[in-house]
Amino acid sequence: MDNHDKKTRSYNMSMIRSKNTKPEELVRKYLFSHGFRYRKNVRTLPGSPDIVLPKYKTVIFVNGCFWHKHDCPRFVWPKSNTEYWNKKIENNVKRDTDNTALLKQAGWKVIVVWECELKKDIAADTLDSLVKRIRV
Ligand SMILES: [Zn+2]
Repeated sequence: MDNHDKKTRSYNMSMIRSKNTKPEELVRKYLFSHGFRYRKNVRTLPGSPDIVLPKYKTVIFVNGCFWHKHDCPRFVWPKSNTEYWNKKIENNVKRDTDNTALLKQAGWKVIVVWECELKKDIAADTLDSLVKRIRV
């Protein structure tokens, strides 16, 4: 199941554990250490994808569960300013949907990695399957 050699593995695990790593940095570093070369925050593409892999015609968004309304326990509607938050979050969701459609029309493979999938106990599996999805 695990085809990383020991050194790579412990390197990955130490990155995954490091506290102040932003989710998108974690994904970028993992991909880089696996030989992928990418561009960051490409503003010329819909939604400014966090990671763009031109060689694989793939874009990756690393989404916060709250801001992008993930169907998971991390997403909870705020109890105050409900109207404001409702509008804001639903706008984000609509924008995500529109951007995904535009990217797919232009021939890009669109992958979303959710913040909750990068919790330290499951991050290694998430990143491993991400690499497989890119290479498909
Ligand atoms: Zn989530």
